Amino acid sequence: MHSHSNFSDGIFSPLELMEFAEKEKLIIFSITDHDTLEGTEIAKEIANNYSFFYLTGIEISARHEGLKTEILGYNLDVAKAKMGEKLTYVQDARKRRILKILENLNSIGLELTLEDIERQVGSGSSPGRPHFARALIEKNYVKSINEAFEIYLAEGRPGYVRRETFEPAEVIELIHSANGVAVLPHPLLIDIVNISELEIYFDTLLSWGLDGIEIYYNYSHVTPNIPQRRLKKGTEMMKKYSRKNDLLITGGSDFHGDTGKLGEVLVPTEVVEGLLEYFNF
Ligand code: AMP
Ligand code: FE
Ligand code: ZN
Repeated sequence: MHSHSNFSDGIFSPLELMEFAEKEKLIIFSITDHDTLEGTEIAKEIANNYSFFYLTGIEISARHEGLKTEILGYNLDVAKAKMGEKLTYVQDARKRRILKILENLNSIGLELTLEDIERQVGSGSSPGRPHFARALIEKNYVKSINEAFEIYLAEGRPGYVRRETFEPAEVIELIHSANGVAVLPHPLLIDIVNISELEIYFDTLLSWGLDGIEIYYNYSHVTPNIPQRRLKKGTEMMKKYSRKNDLLITGGSDFHGDTGKLGEVLVPTEVVEGLLEYFNF
């Protein structure tokens, strides 16, 4: 229930992703591109040809007091969500940002051009760091996406430029205004070390209307060094927390084409049943 097409920073088209999802015998599938609904809209139009249940989706960038906090929106009325200027604003901000990242990388001597990046972005509307990572591989500056992030693109590295985003409260409101469901993706990537402090942040997100948590996620792709203790303690906390607060539980591979594998994250049967019931499938 969490994947990216080439309308944002994934490699594959919505159609290709649908074919993979069918092959992997997924029960529920969603394309959740960063800050754009174009790919998920196309997928929705052809979803009847497949045997899985398709949910429209999006992953919207947000930040609260310096804490990067993406919010997933599911089952949205795409036409409603597209209204207003919020999504266009973040897409435009992303386009301005890639010029700055490029400048930063050029200033430390890397020979990348705007064309190199544009080639990676293709006709997508949400350019981001993975496009730089792929261009850096193509130019033989690095061997892998992870290496590109470690050396050049992660926070604190020379290419890093902060994204202009909204507050999570605004993003949740946008999702709700389009009749969607707001879910917190990969919660253990939030930059709060202490699990009880993370729980307090969940309370804040809940007070803003958060509906669910993505508990089932493979953290090893983006954070290969995540401590086992954090995974164990964090997952236990989230299971308890979602039970206590009656939150929707989801899972996803966050498949981008070159990170992860579609269908690799296994979700317990009762969670799948909960989702089927929640979305009236
Ligand atoms: P951006 O949207 O430009 O800030 O880039 C964030 C995206 O980069 C995330 O959605 C992931 O797809 C990807 N990403 C972030 N960190 C890593 C990493 N260490 N390895 C691989 N991909 C990453
Ligand atoms: Fe991404
Ligand atoms: Zn994602």
